[in-house]
Amino acid sequence: MTSRRTRLRLIDRLRSEGIKNEAVLAAMLEIPRHIFMGEALASRAYENTALPIGYGQTISQPYIVARMTEALLSGGLLNTVLEIGTGSGYQAAILARLVKSVYTVERITALLIEAKSRFQELGLDNVKVQNSNGYDGWKDQAPFDGIIATAAPFEVPKVLLEQLADGGRLVIPVGDQYRQVLKLIIRQGDQFKEEQLEMVSFVPMLHGGR
Ligand code: SAH
Repeated sequence: MTSRRTRLRLIDRLRSEGIKNEAVLAAMLEIPRHIFMGEALASRAYENTALPIGYGQTISQPYIVARMTEALLSGGLLNTVLEIGTGSGYQAAILARLVKSVYTVERITALLIEAKSRFQELGLDNVKVQNSNGYDGWKDQAPFDGIIATAAPFEVPKVLLEQLADGGRLVIPVGDQYRQVLKLIIRQGDQFKEEQLEMVSFVPMLHGGR
């Protein structure tokens, strides 16, 4: 159920859906997705689908994790990445294999505690977590080479643009509660170049801190 062969099948599927970055695919082969969810759902971990992780939140569909990670890295390797919405920790764990340092913020304390213990279990010591509101970014650690939001605001928070390094890339779903456009925004000095990737469906990025 959770064997390497099952994981390989998922990787083949991602490839057939257009994921080309071999480093991203290798990271997704290596990081076991089943430990990022409750035991009752673990048998479905290698299906290409989003799954509930409690507190009304979900672990994203593997295809979307791959697509967003690929978009984030499409300009080359990155040193520091900020993630908004740690959730289960899966996306952060994939990033941890691909960039130097991952900073991830989550508003639900219980999810963050679980995610942190998974990073420890996998020996991912380049992930730093913070229990805070993603609308504030992570000021002390800014600027970031990349920012990835896995919860959707109605519009791009200005703070996140400000916390991007020159040349940095922001991957973010933007829209209402049900459907959003996944955007790739690249900072060039004080200019922001925007590309629309595809339609997605994320949980909302909530206001009001914790
Ligand atoms: N990246 C996650 C999926 C996250 S689901 C994974 O790989 O499992 C979205 C997460 O964003 C939820 O856990 C939710 O609690 C969190 N979230 C929503 N609004 C937030 C905000 N304003 N600040 C921080 N986290 C937020």
